[in-house]
Amino acid sequence: MSAHIINGKEIVASIREVIKQEVQELVIQGKQPGLAVVLVGDDSASAVYVRNKAKACEEVGIYSEVHRLPTDTSETELLSLIGSLNNDDRIHGILVQLPLPAHINESMVIDMISISKDVDCFHPINVGNLLIGKPALLPCTPAGVMEILHTLNEPIAGKHAVVVGRSNIVGKPMALLLLREDATVTICHSKTKNLQEITRQADILIAAVGRAKMITKDHVKPGAIVIDVGMNRDEHGKLCGDVDFADVAQSAGYLSSVPGCVGPMTITMLLRNTLEAARHAQASV
Ligand code: NDP
Repeated sequence: MSAHIINGKEIVASIREVIKQEVQELVIQGKQPGLAVVLVGDDSASAVYVRNKAKACEEVGIYSEVHRLPTDTSETELLSLIGSLNNDDRIHGILVQLPLPAHINESMVIDMISISKDVDCFHPINVGNLLIGKPALLPCTPAGVMEILHTLNEPIAGKHAVVVGRSNIVGKPMALLLLREDATVTICHSKTKNLQEITRQADILIAAVGRAKMITKDHVKPGAIVIDVGMNRDEHGKLCGDVDFADVAQSAGYLSSVPGCVGPMTITMLLRNTLEAARHAQASV
């Protein structure tokens, strides 16, 4: 048996086409959605992510501006920039690229972002809304994984979903979104005992660990849906996921690839959140 490899490119293209049309409708009404991305320091991976986000905005007609600040920017300066973006009517979404330099308190910066412009969904109030199931913007990576799952036309309700990883930006919100769609959810982490025994029970397995190729065929129930969130470098410096693709492809039912699936879906959800935030701003005028 060999896995159906999920066509991330096709899914991303079709969602971005819809977003593009909906952005166009707002532009016609004189309300172009706008995203501000803030990058502090010169981390090369962050610079690439920020460039990709700006390019994706341009492709769908979202206005974007990138604020590149030096590494020695003070916390006060950064908070003041966010304050002015909060009050800027052209800007509907604010994204501060993480990680920030060590002298800046990350949670203070996230707390400063207006809840209605928090397109990453990192603000504690938005996280709380997600927890209690109140409608709100959804965190981009987990929302992107749910979109991928929806394209498979396989039921989620009643399925056993196992999420490996419990970070605030991926693992925990991922588990909540699966729970919201009535999956039975197990969360695993670095202290989990007998990981393989648990992951082998999964109908849907989400790997969000940050360890190159750690999920092998032995972790996967034959026929399971496996979504790889990981973005790592292998021993040759090549981009790879948390899943050993060649090995797991032999027995999984569906498998996502790295790169080309969850990464571009995450950016697509950022575009959608910016569009949603702009619509919301328009409705509340
Ligand atoms: P974190 O480092 O914040 O979290 C990793 C999680 O994995 C932790 O909960 C940790 O457990 C758990 N873990 C570590 N080692 C093991 C192990 N041996 N067995 C089981 N669990 C383990 O990472 P993120 O959640 O931020 O990211 C995870 C991966 O997803 C990374 O590769 C990252 O690059 C990628 N990513 C990709 C995105 C995309 O757009 N495609 C977006 C965001 C992330 P514990 O809590 O106990 O330490």
